[in-house]
Amino acid sequence: MKKIVVLGAGYAGLKTVVELQKKLRGQVEITLVDENPYHYEATDLHEVASGNLPASKITFPITDVLNPQITTLILDHVDKVDQDKKVVELSNHQPLSYDYCVFALGFVSETFGIKGAEENSLPMTSVKEAEAIHSHIITQMKDYQVTKDPNDLKIIICGAGFTGIELVGALADARPRYAKLAGVTPEQIELHIIDASKRLLPMFNEKLADYGINLLKKLDVKITTEALIQEIQPETVLYQLAGDTDDGSLHKVEANTIIWTTGVSGSPVVAKSGLQARRGRVMDSEHLTAPGNDDMYMVGDVAAVMPPDGKRPYPTTAQIALSMANYVARDLTARVKGTARPAVYTYKSLGTVASVGNTRAFGEALGHSYKGYPASVLKKMIMNKSLMELGGFKELLAKGRFDLYH
Ligand SMILES: Cc1cc2nc3c(=O)[nH]c(=O)nc-3n(C[C@H](O)[C@H](O)[C@H](O)COP(=O)(O)OP(=O)(O)OC[C@H]3O[C@@H](n4cnc5c(N)ncnc54)[C@H](O)[C@@H]3O)c2cc1C
Repeated sequence: MKKIVVLGAGYAGLKTVVELQKKLRGQVEITLVDENPYHYEATDLHEVASGNLPASKITFPITDVLNPQITTLILDHVDKVDQDKKVVELSNHQPLSYDYCVFALGFVSETFGIKGAEENSLPMTSVKEAEAIHSHIITQMKDYQVTKDPNDLKIIICGAGFTGIELVGALADARPRYAKLAGVTPEQIELHIIDASKRLLPMFNEKLADYGINLLKKLDVKITTEALIQEIQPETVLYQLAGDTDDGSLHKVEANTIIWTTGVSGSPVVAKSGLQARRGRVMDSEHLTAPGNDDMYMVGDVAAVMPPDGKRPYPTTAQIALSMANYVARDLTARVKGTARPAVYTYKSLGTVASVGNTRAFGEALGHSYKGYPASVLKKMIMNKSLMELGGFKELLAKGRFDLYH
């Protein structure tokens, strides 16, 4: 019986397993490896970081969706894949051999080599990191009661991409709670977001991006654009503004909470496994396998897929991760059954909606623009759809977002 090893139980890996269990029952042995016993909705990490949702609301046990007759779950850290020997090396288990490997280990924080970013700012790429951000904020707010240090009340977010914007929106919603802990008014909790770009949110048309930025301004978020971050020192961000003279002097802004959301790259296990990649992303073949290794599927944030115009790979999203997983399950099914492989992979985005807190959002879906409360409902429906695709009705009912009426 063919052995399929799936690495990572995120959107791409878990969806691949869910589909393979339906299509290849009794015909393959599946082994799924993840370092956590739970699947997490990475698209909701900002809700945990802000404390607006507990981690239990964005996670569910991986075993909930596994069929133990077909799939074995191994909880361990993947160290590397030896492509020549066709084995996966794990930290605490014997090497795992495979006929086909589905590599879906997701993303890590990218510091772009900026001095001090790793040591002096908080990343938000896993549940543990999101919880660490929340507990750090709570500590600062409580500390303020004693220290009266205004920097305890300040939060700086480095990077105003999709993730940074969703995070700052969630933090704005949480202001009254933070203020209560600190014994101040919500207006005294200062939120600051800094980015190198001139035009934020380039994935949206100008009108929608402006709408999003104005939402943040109304929430009294301080936005600094065209600011090239040069260094993060303890409690200090040092940056250069476009147009500054090059005399080495830098602007600085201080806060006792600095969060790093400038970007992500694919898992470092990609490079350790000798796969050719750019920022941890392998340029996939037409069947979503690694170039020169048709038994190694690269899916989700570890993969780069080029649209027909060949200009820039599609942005890495949960949406494309799920779509890739569907395709990989079909391709693997054909190969195991010895039938014709499906036509080459193609992708059509259904659109993108960004939330700014619980009741505000903006974005495009199926060719239409949405703003405000209707967009926020749409965003929750999109999240519910993804939950349904991965966890079925059980997880949808337990973890779905049905707080649609405000
Ligand atoms: C705050 C935020 C908001 C976002 N919003 C959206 C959105 O609105 N829409 C959208 O489409 N996308 C959104 N994204 C992007 C989306 O979350 C990612 O593109 C998606 O999670 C990628 O899926 P994946 O399966 O490749 O990886 P992941 O979801 O990251 O899953 C990777 C899995 O691998 C496991 N793992 C990692 N390394 C190891 C290892 N060495 N050993 C064992 N296990 C390991 C992890 O535990 C995890 O379970 C958002 C991301 C963030 C951070």
